[in-house]
Amino acid sequence: MTRLFAGTAFDKLPTCERCGLLEAECTCPPPARELTPPEKQTARIAVEKRPKGKVATVIRGLKADANDLPALLTQLKTTCGAGGTIDGDLLEIQGDHADRVAKVLAKLGYKFPR
Ligand SMILES: [Zn+2]
Repeated sequence: MTRLFAGTAFDKLPTCERCGLLEAECTCPPPARELTPPEKQTARIAVEKRPKGKVATVIRGLKADANDLPALLTQLKTTCGAGGTIDGDLLEIQGDHADRVAKVLAKLGYKFPR
């Protein structure tokens, strides 16, 4: 017997508020996010050791939902000429680029802990 999707199973899956499709099928552009101005945020930069003797420049304090972290990461990678990743609210640039990262963030208006 073929089982029809007549039950309520699909009703419980998340659907897009705009097009009504399941979120997995929705192609609506993501809603504009309300980003927090850099001037109201404090970035903490640290150079940390990684396994195998490598170091990474880590930026904390910038929330993923309050910043365009992918754009910021791209800018940092370009400025530092290094690879990097985003891990939640944390940005990481390979190598010791604390000075360059600080300059980029300062130019954008981010504050630093005193
Ligand atoms: Zn949609």
